[in-house]
Amino acid sequence: MKKIIAVDGPAGAGKSTVSKICAARLGYTYIDTGAMYRAVALKVLLSGKPVSEELLDNIKIELDESARVYLDGREVTKDIRTPEVSRGASDVAKLGFVRSKLTELQREMAARGSVIMDGRDIGTQVLPNADLKIFLTASVEERARRRFEELKLKGLAADLAQIRNEITLRDKQDSEREIAPLAQADDAVLVDSTNMTIEQVVAKILELAK
Ligand code: C5P
Repeated sequence: MKKIIAVDGPAGAGKSTVSKICAARLGYTYIDTGAMYRAVALKVLLSGKPVSEELLDNIKIELDESARVYLDGREVTKDIRTPEVSRGASDVAKLGFVRSKLTELQREMAARGSVIMDGRDIGTQVLPNADLKIFLTASVEERARRRFEELKLKGLAADLAQIRNEITLRDKQDSEREIAPLAQADDAVLVDSTNMTIEQVVAKILELAK
């Protein structure tokens, strides 16, 4: 039988890392909805024009089974991970016409089979009938530290205080927007991963999914 798991939470809580692992173990498809908002933001940046309904009408966003992201047929998996695109994604995510288009796409993706979908509004708006809802969070210090370590591992320059500020700003913007703000669904299970390892969070979700 088709099953749906929704994972929401603030930036850097580890949603995509644990969702990807859980999807592989359960044989579900992993859908990263943040990547879809990022793809819209990248298209806007590349167009050099303000976001418009016309730009959304002609957009093609695809995610493959390895969570690679394609914008209008071109792979943009790495291009959407810059701080500029993160900010842009949070900006376009405030707009009703952007959200309705992506929500529609996300529901179509979820209709195809069992999925684990991560984002900000999956349990509250996109898939309110999900079989399991997780709200994954961690302290802002811990989330910033994880991002910092991740960038260092990749050999990229990183500033802990700056990362912390960016995360705080994006969470504020995502939580305070009028349409589909970042929020824990009433029936979501809160998982605070501040003092948990990736494997512990995965085990917790798999246990709840049983
Ligand atoms: O999850 P990620 O950090 O990649 O998401 C980028 C941005 O996309 C978020 O800061 C948020 O503004 C937006 N987003 C959203 N709703 C979702 C997923 C992401 O508004 N379901």
